[in-house]
Amino acid sequence: MSLLDTLVVTTLPLVPKSIVRRFAGPYIAGESLNDAIEAVKKLNRQGISTTIDVLGESVTQPEKAQQYVSNYLKVLDAIDQHDLDSNISIKPTQFGLGIDTDLCRDNFIKLMDKLRKYDNFVRIDMEDSPFTTLTLDLHESISAEYSKSGIVIQAYLRRTIKDLEERLIPGKANIRLCKGIYIEPHDLAYKDTDVVRKNFNLLLEKALKAGLYVGIATHDEILVWDAMRIIEKLDLSPDQYEFQMLLGVTESLRRQIVLEGHKMRVYVPFGKDWYAYSTRRLKENPKIAGYVFKDIFNLK
Ligand SMILES: Cc1cc2nc3c(=O)[nH]c(=O)nc-3n(C[C@H](O)[C@H](O)[C@H](O)COP(=O)(O)OP(=O)(O)OC[C@H]3O[C@@H](n4cnc5c(N)ncnc54)[C@H](O)[C@@H]3O)c2cc1C
Repeated sequence: MSLLDTLVVTTLPLVPKSIVRRFAGPYIAGESLNDAIEAVKKLNRQGISTTIDVLGESVTQPEKAQQYVSNYLKVLDAIDQHDLDSNISIKPTQFGLGIDTDLCRDNFIKLMDKLRKYDNFVRIDMEDSPFTTLTLDLHESISAEYSKSGIVIQAYLRRTIKDLEERLIPGKANIRLCKGIYIEPHDLAYKDTDVVRKNFNLLLEKALKAGLYVGIATHDEILVWDAMRIIEKLDLSPDQYEFQMLLGVTESLRRQIVLEGHKMRVYVPFGKDWYAYSTRRLKENPKIAGYVFKDIFNLK
C-alpha cells in the first residue's frame, strides 16, 4: 500500500458514513433481502453459487440477536422460494457469542428445523481471536446436531495448524480457509505476507489430503495459482473443494477461475448494519486513495 493509501485507511473512521456507504457500494448487495435475492440470481445465472450473509456483529443485547435469527429464517425461506443456489454464513457474535455461549448456541439451534427442511448448509464465520476457541467449540456442538455445517479458519493465526490437526481433521469438518481480516497481536498472528501465504498453502494441502471439503477463500492470485497446483497434484475432483470470493472483489480473477471449470461461491452480504463490514473491505482495497480522491473531485 502506498503512503497515501495508508493515510486514507487510518483516517477512515473520520469519513462521514454517507461517503463510506457510497465507496462500499460494490461490496454489499443492498439493505434489503430483495437486494440480496437479486444479486444472488445474477450470480447464479453466471454459474456461481453464493453464501448469503445478514450484516451484523458484536451484539450486546439478546433481543438484537433474536432479530438476526428471524432475519436468517426469512433468508432460508427466500432461498427455497426463489430456488436460489445459496447457503448462509453467520457471525457468532451476531447470535450473541459475546453475551453468553449458551444463548448463541440456542440461537443457532433455532435455525435447525428450517435448515433440515430445506437441506441447506450453514457456515460459522470466524471473528477475532478472543472468539476462536469459543467458535471452534460452538462449531463442534452445532455439527453434532446438524452435519451440513462448517467453520472458517484463518491462515494468519499461529494456532490454526494445531486446530486443524487436533480438532478439524479428526472431526472431518467442512472448512473455509482464508487469510484472516482482524487486527491481531504479533504473538498470536503472523504479520509477514509471505509467511501468511506459506501457512495458507500448508493448511490447504493438509486439509485436502485429509479429505476435508475446503472453501478456498482468497482473491490473491498467487494463492489461487498455488491452490490450483495443489488440486492438480492431489488429483482432486470438483466436488472436493470450491473457490470462494467476496462480492465486488476481483471479478476478472473470479471469471477466470469459473472459466477453468472450478466451482465458485460468492459471499453476498446485505442488511442495514453495513458499516463494520464495509470499512474492513475498504481497508483491504489497495486503490482506496484513488477511489476517495475520484469521489471528492467528482472524476470519472
Ligand atoms: C468468501 C470469504 C469469506 C471470508 N470470511 C472470513 C471470515 O470468516 N473471517 C475472517 O477473518 N476473514 C474472512 N474473509 C476475509 C479474508 O480473511 C481476507 O481478509 C480477504 O479475503 C483478503 O485476503 P486475500 O486472500 O483476498 O488477499 P489480499 O492480499 O488481501 O488481496 C489480494 C488482492 O485482491 C484484491 N482485493 C482484496 N480485497 C479487496 C477489496 N476490498 N477491494 C478491491 N480489491 C481487493 C487486491 O487486488 C489484492 O491485491 C473472507 C474472505 C472471503 C473471500
